[in-house]
Order: sequence, then structure tokens, then C-alpha cells
Amino acid sequence: MPKEVTKLPLGGPKDKPPHLPPPPPGKINPLVMNRPNPGGVPYGQLIKSFEDPGMVALTFDDGPFKYTNRLLDTLKNSGSIRGTFFVNGKNTGDLNGQGMMDVPKRMMAEGHQISSHTSRKWLNSRTPSMELLARSQPTCAPPNFDCNGKCMKLMGKMGYHVVGENLDTHDWKNMTNMQASKDIVGKAVDGADSKKNNFIALAQDIHEATVDQSAKHMLDKFKAKGYDSSSNHTAVTVGECLGDAPEN
Ligand SMILES: [Zn+2]
Repeated sequence: MPKEVTKLPLGGPKDKPPHLPPPPPGKINPLVMNRPNPGGVPYGQLIKSFEDPGMVALTFDDGPFKYTNRLLDTLKNSGSIRGTFFVNGKNTGDLNGQGMMDVPKRMMAEGHQISSHTSRKWLNSRTPSMELLARSQPTCAPPNFDCNGKCMKLMGKMGYHVVGENLDTHDWKNMTNMQASKDIVGKAVDGADSKKNNFIALAQDIHEATVDQSAKHMLDKFKAKGYDSSSNHTAVTVGECLGDAPEN
């Protein structure tokens, strides 16, 4: 008997029609196939920058995990900064674990973008968290950015904007020396002009040091350079930075 899928109370304009029957083994979840691909932002090709100056997309991948709520607190307390979470489903954390679905629900409630950083296996897993990913904004960051040729073609067919970064904080490499990661961000942001430059910054919400040290540092750096809401130049979601279609 197929496992029953709980429909998420997503609500709002981004709500999608109810799910289709489970795909046969090996096939991609029909929820993410042949979507209408609205708007002018390309699908199925790597996007590492965007046009509007002054805007910052803070992206976090590999989560959520036990520290993610603390990061959400920091973003909220720093002037309701909105970010983008490229969610795994099951990696360091497990979205199907006890209470874990409260995290993406909070993300949505606080205006963050949830996008995919997951695998075909997970998308076909027919769990509530899979539903969440299938129904989230059709943007993905391929694990390890390892997506070329065939993979990219499939991303296009699945209707995904494939998003990379132009500021990798290398937080995961610098767990015992977060200063090194802060220096990377500091150098890039200090040398930037908020009237000309924009960023897609990448970090990971699965690391305690990222959440407790580098996230706040990054926000302060951007703010000090004029990337703040008072000038309309601020950290918003990837979708907003790219000018993605409102239907997405
Ligand atoms: Zn990753």
C-alpha cells in the first residue's frame, strides 16, 4: 500500500494544487515536472549573479538542523532580514524528525524562501517534507554545485532556477577558525559599492559557528556598507534578487 502523504497547510498565493499520485520507481516526482516556467529568469542554467545593485541574497544550504532556529532569530533581530534556505530533507538533520517541520513553517511565516538542495531519491520519498520541497519555490542549488549537461537539462525540465553563489564564505572549511571565513566576507564586502555590487552569499545553517558567529558578522558587514533596508538595498530572498515571477 502506498504511504499516505499528509498535505501541508501551506496556504497563500504560493499554494500549489494537490499532489499527484506517487511516481513509479526511478521516475521523477510529477509535481516537479513540466511546470509552466513563468517569468524571464532562466530555468536549467546556473545563475551566479543578478542585475540589481545593492541587493544581497543570503543563502544557507544543507539544513535545517538544530541550530537553524537560532539563525532565524538572528535574521529576525537584524531588521527582519529575509534569506533563502536550500533545504536537504535528510542530511545532517532530518526534516522527518520530531518537530523538524516546524522549522520550514517558521521560515515561510517569516518571509524566507525555501528551495531545494536535495536529491531525486528524496523528492520521490512521498513524505510531508518532500511535499514541502516539491511545493516550494522552483529554485535549487545542486549539492556540491555538481550539475552539468544531463543534470542541468533535467533541472530545466523540472522547472528549476539553478542558483550558485558569488560569495562563498567557506564556513564549512573553517569551523575551528571562523575568523578565516569572516575575513573572506570582510574582504569582499569592504571592497564593494552598494550602488554597484550585489551578492549571492553562501553559508550553511548546519554549523554552530556559522549560526553563532559568522552570520551576525556578515549581516553587520553588509549593513555597514549600505546594504540596509533604509536605502532599499538590503538582504532579501534569491527570488526577489533575481526578479523571479510572482507565480513562483
Ligand atoms: Zn550542500
